[in-house]
Amino acid sequence: MTFDKLGLSPELLRAVSDQGYTTPTPVQAQSIPVILEGHDIMAGAQTGTGKTAGFTLPMLEILNREHAERGEQSSNRGGRRHIRVLVLTPTRELAAQVNESIVTYGKYLSLRSTVVFGGVGIQPQINKLNHGVDILVATPGRLLDLVNQRKCDLSKVEMLVLDEADRMLDMGFIHDIRKVLALIPKNRQTLLFSATFSSDIKRLASGILKSPRLIEVSRNETAHQVTQVVHPVGKSRKREMLSYLIQTGEWKQVLVFTRTKHGANKLTKQLVIDGIQAAAIHGNKSQTARTNALKDFKKGAIRVLVATDIAARGLDIDQLPHVVNFELPNVSEDYVHRIGRTGRAGRSGEAMSLVCNEEVKHLRGIEKLIGKKIHQVDVPGFEADISVHVEPVKQAGRVQQNRRGGQGRSQHRSGQRNAQQSGGNSGGGNRRRSSRPGRRERAASQG
Ligand code: AMP
Repeated sequence: MTFDKLGLSPELLRAVSDQGYTTPTPVQAQSIPVILEGHDIMAGAQTGTGKTAGFTLPMLEILNREHAERGEQSSNRGGRRHIRVLVLTPTRELAAQVNESIVTYGKYLSLRSTVVFGGVGIQPQINKLNHGVDILVATPGRLLDLVNQRKCDLSKVEMLVLDEADRMLDMGFIHDIRKVLALIPKNRQTLLFSATFSSDIKRLASGILKSPRLIEVSRNETAHQVTQVVHPVGKSRKREMLSYLIQTGEWKQVLVFTRTKHGANKLTKQLVIDGIQAAAIHGNKSQTARTNALKDFKKGAIRVLVATDIAARGLDIDQLPHVVNFELPNVSEDYVHRIGRTGRAGRSGEAMSLVCNEEVKHLRGIEKLIGKKIHQVDVPGFEADISVHVEPVKQAGRVQQNRRGGQGRSQHRSGQRNAQQSGGNSGGGNRRRSSRPGRRERAASQG
């Protein structure tokens, strides 16, 4: 399958080719033709699958066709542009990235888009809206502020995209979404993207989508290209282990997740003390600080970006090789989102989780969600501090099959076999204190 079979205009194909993309990803191959035919879609696609281009390309195609049809007549008459497509996203970062994609893919077209989100001045956004846009990308709160100030007219929206709808609901945006829905025409095309499908998402979808086409790409599955490991560790030595892994592995770029904003700040300070350039990104940081941290991280000026789930949602970092769960998330779906930051668009990546005793129950929940055991590897030098007795993977062979050969660091890859035999690069010290959960640990994992 190539892009030129999808019904896109030469201008879009050229922009795609400028990006170096030759083959549509599965979500693109499935969604682009269906969207071009005018159908609503409900797509189960996590970030990293190429979903943004999956809706952006057909959206631009449709707008461009109409634009060409209306042609110069309207512009000769001074016809003002109005918002024809509205894209709602849960976070500022995702909104900015979606708009960047629209600009990238639409660079040979004469359509206009802009992005609005909170945390930054509203006036520049109003100025851009006054100028007239065809596409508006927005987070729900700021959008409603603009509507309330009568700076934004949604009455002519023809297409609505809900990107990462599950996260919007998680973040409590359902009321805002309903308010927005009341402001846009019912006769429109609606595209809903969500990594997971809870009953809340299904309820929302059933109320707003008309005979949607279902598109499913690795729903509730972790990206195939991501090698996953669990490093059991005593809670008090997590930071030390992280510094050790970063330094010995000579990682140049690693995204680290903590559960709280305070935890992110604290860890960042400690890493800096260890001589590792790091910055934190979370909801208490100003938008400028968040943008700068992300920019520095992308260009390699800082090695570690420490993030909370919400701030990291939708982050698109090209070829990010390592994601670390410094703490496991309470909500299992967040694990899927977190590790989706790496292994994007067919590239390989590695996701490591530092798991202490208290987190075993979260690990179980995650494994249940993704339908497989995550490979466990003791890190040499930290064995003495491991009080976690995570039940070993029963069929190491099966796990090996699940994990793509040739990816990830070999010392991690061989780790499970090392639970019984020392070997690989982990060295002879790679010894598990116990390979079976004791009564205490089982109780902990249930409680
Ligand atoms: P997304 O899931 O939309 O966040 O996209 C994930 C990453 O895949 C982004 O960095 C895109 O630039 C990249 N990407 C999108 N489509 C393709 C494609 N057809 N081939 C290669 N990379 C792609």
